[in-house]
Amino acid sequence: MKFIDLNRQYAAYKDEIDAVVHRVLESGQFILGDGLERLEAGLSRYVGARYAIGVSSGTDGLVLALMAYGVGPGDEIVTTPFTFIATAEAVCLVGARPVFVDIDPATYNIDVCKLKSVIDERKKAGASVRGIIPVGLYGQCPDMDEINAIARAEGLFVIEDACQSFGAGYKGRRSCALSDIGVTSFFPSKPLGAYGDAGMIFTDSEEIAKSCLSLRVHGQSGRYYHEAVGLNARLDAIQAEILLVKFAHFEDELEKRRQAAQVYTEKLKEALPDVTPPHVLSDRTSVYAQYTVRVPAGARDEAARFMNGRGIPTAVHYPMPLHLQPAFKKLGLGHGAFPEAERAAKEVLSLPMHPFISKEEQESVIEAMTEAISSL
Ligand SMILES: *Cc1c(COP(=O)(O)O)cnc(C)c1O
Repeated sequence: MKFIDLNRQYAAYKDEIDAVVHRVLESGQFILGDGLERLEAGLSRYVGARYAIGVSSGTDGLVLALMAYGVGPGDEIVTTPFTFIATAEAVCLVGARPVFVDIDPATYNIDVCKLKSVIDERKKAGASVRGIIPVGLYGQCPDMDEINAIARAEGLFVIEDACQSFGAGYKGRRSCALSDIGVTSFFPSKPLGAYGDAGMIFTDSEEIAKSCLSLRVHGQSGRYYHEAVGLNARLDAIQAEILLVKFAHFEDELEKRRQAAQVYTEKLKEALPDVTPPHVLSDRTSVYAQYTVRVPAGARDEAARFMNGRGIPTAVHYPMPLHLQPAFKKLGLGHGAFPEAERAAKEVLSLPMHPFISKEEQESVIEAMTEAISSL
């Protein structure tokens, strides 16, 4: 069994994908181009944002978004310590400093009850707080309305790190179009995945869109005329065409993911009442980038080992919160700084999840997990 079965997905769309890849090879045009423009138009319509800018990865999208706001040394960006490293890495790459706020233990997303006091504290200390980067972890949007309201009151921008939540619903709207900027990733294992690195920036702001468009091509505004120092952060033609094929199947895949999640949740409730399934709030829908459960303290690692021994792959997203990573040692934060993030890092376990998983496979996952936990 695979954790995310990309081979089955390829087998399902092989003819379509092979045809478009072949067409790009014949065209001789490999960077940007017509396929990307169609992808940008289709995805901006889908998420409900005026502008979509294809980029080379989610990480580069976050960096470009911060650059578009002119974030640099001396600035601070508020975010969550319980996410993939890229969220805070992008902040450091532009020379700014990440400031963490602990998570809500039910959703694993940034705790909006703690957000304002951290911002006030940093401002009182004289810091130049510029923006907030909330993350839709595991495929569920954070509390965007509350975050936007705090940002507006404090004069901050909001960049939604939607690298795991493309397609997620929030109060009838879609992830990526819920704040000043949304950034997503098409890394192969994300819900909408390319066959290589790729990402996209979404915004309603013409000014930000123009900046990002220029910054992704070396800050170029005319041929060999550079108004700013930018990056090489373009999305290539083969990935754009592959994404167009996969996007046509995306809603169908989301439905399959949701059905698989429902199967897991029902079986867990019957067999393992001590294991906490994902908690999706009633005003939003998850795309289940991961199906992540909380295993009672102390049992997670042994359960995972047992399951892996039975041929069931699992993963931990993420075993170490960012404030404890050696890369962020200079922030001077230690154990105990963000207790909920630290507890989640010890207790979460992601189960195999993809649109092509069978009911039988899911049954064997739950059986192995039940056996693992009852043997402890
Ligand atoms: C995957 C991911 C990223 C980075 O995306 P890449 O395309 O791999 O650069 C950033 N943030 C989060 C939350 C992610 O899951």
